[in-house]
Amino acid sequence: MTDRELSPRTIAVTGGRPTGSGEPLNTPIVLASNYRGETGYSRTHGTDTWRALEDTVGALEGGRCLSFASGMAAASAIVHALRPQIVVVPSVSYLGVRALLGDLTDAGTLTTVEVTIENTLDVIGAIERAERTASRGADGVVLWIETPTNPTLDEADLARLCREAKARGIRTVVDSTFASPVGAQPLADGADVVFHSGTKFIGGHSDLMIGLVCTNDDAVMAALERVRVVHGATPGSLEAFLALRGLRTLPIRYEASSRTAAELATRLGAHPNVESVRQIGPMISFVVAGGADVADRVCASSRVIVEATSLGGVESTWERRNKYPGDAHVNPGLVRMSVGLESVDDLWADIESALANSR
Ligand SMILES: *Cc1c(COP(=O)(O)O)cnc(C)c1O
Repeated sequence: MTDRELSPRTIAVTGGRPTGSGEPLNTPIVLASNYRGETGYSRTHGTDTWRALEDTVGALEGGRCLSFASGMAAASAIVHALRPQIVVVPSVSYLGVRALLGDLTDAGTLTTVEVTIENTLDVIGAIERAERTASRGADGVVLWIETPTNPTLDEADLARLCREAKARGIRTVVDSTFASPVGAQPLADGADVVFHSGTKFIGGHSDLMIGLVCTNDDAVMAALERVRVVHGATPGSLEAFLALRGLRTLPIRYEASSRTAAELATRLGAHPNVESVRQIGPMISFVVAGGADVADRVCASSRVIVEATSLGGVESTWERRNKYPGDAHVNPGLVRMSVGLESVDDLWADIESALANSR
């Protein structure tokens, strides 16, 4: 074998495995807090189970990776590691992240500036103003990019924004949960930090919570390691094992779900009860004609698709997002759907009857 680069499918399958003769093919679930001798303590030194997952996600993202207890634990660790004074953040983005930044604003730790992430010039203007305002200048500013956004699937011009931020010495963080490690390469685009709610596509089976942060910057990595040690949001052993097991099939799951989602989006776009539709990868956001009540009835009347809040699993899920106070600014009729691995015709029959029965 030459040293040509392996494809994501191969990395996902081969990463994080023991290599010695007689060892198991999969890194086992290490149930240990304490180790004999110099190896130490799990919170400070990690475990082989975490490392197997981290090595594989890091290889997919092209950086080093650290795992956390959840996506939000990862987001919190990033903020505490970078210690920004001003965070420029998309006004439409994951509601948990905006709640975290809101709490830190209330605590006097930082301030936020909200932008429309699809409006590249608006974002550049905001980071320039933030740099002039922050007493630490560019070092006090973080550009927080989420793309595609939850729940509206807005897309950032990732490469351009990372380039413009870097040219000004401003660090970028990318929440790449919806793109997954196979749908985007933020570090290659120049991002300083990329993170995932591994709860979603990486785990892929709605049975675990985990967060993953990747970077190429040694100082940022050291700061993240320090935050994991002192804040203590370590992943569970079973969760890390299951996340790697899920990751093995991520590339083919993502590809298959994306293909189904593209077909469903085409059919939704032609449906008279649907006002608009957007699809990126396995995610679809569509606006049901008739507003919140009709959309609620649509979501409640499916038989194959599960009405549920999370996403990225083998099973299709959907929900109306505007019911959450944190998403009160999105269209009341917007339904966010995560497409799983069921047959496209069964899913379409389910959607069609849900739309027909809800008028
Ligand atoms: C779910 C989600 C998170 C938070 O991850 P948890 O694992 O639920 O803590 C962060 N960002 C996005 C885009 C998400 O969808």
